[in-house]
Amino acid sequence: MSANKITISGVTIECIQGDIAAQSGIAAVVNAANAELMIGGGVAGAIHRAAGPRLEEECRPLAPISPGEAVITGGHNLPNRYVIHCLGPIYGIDKPENLLLANCYRNALKLAEEHRIESIAFPAISTGAFGYPISDAAELAFRTIVEDIPKLKFVKTIRFVLFSASDLKVHQETLSRMIE
Ligand code: ADP
Repeated sequence: MSANKITISGVTIECIQGDIAAQSGIAAVVNAANAELMIGGGVAGAIHRAAGPRLEEECRPLAPISPGEAVITGGHNLPNRYVIHCLGPIYGIDKPENLLLANCYRNALKLAEEHRIESIAFPAISTGAFGYPISDAAELAFRTIVEDIPKLKFVKTIRFVLFSASDLKVHQETLSRMIE
């Protein structure tokens, strides 16, 4: 079975294929950031290019961040009110990587709640340049989020934006297993 969305206790987790920097209708997008919170490749490049240079200016005093940590800024020219920047673990280097990756999701949701954010979109943190295997990352991300659902008062929509069709398929299959 393969699911695009599941709803648990009024919170919807959904997966789509797309660009994290083009998510209108979502209050906060998550950046798979680097420690310096600067423009880079992958997600960080797409987000900073779409947000414009004022995002880097706002980020400068908040850097550096450590693996698992999250910080929040405005969205600038993005179609989103906020950007939540998470530093994922580098697979095989930052350990324990599962705990550090889970911390990204927990800390991002914590910031979202503190800012009364109703909708948030995540990329597959750490699965690009940082090398985390996609299906392990998907499983961990969904499990961590499902565990946190009882704590959520404001967040109602959690969207995963996957760049490739194959990453989307892995996420859909993993999401389906959450409701079996
Ligand atoms: P990390 O350094 O945390 O691994 P990357 O940005 O290199 O972060 O990649 C994280 C994931 O995001 C990868 O699966 C990559 O394919 C995907 N990705 C890259 N660009 C985008 C984008 N514009 N929108 C959504 N996902 C993207």
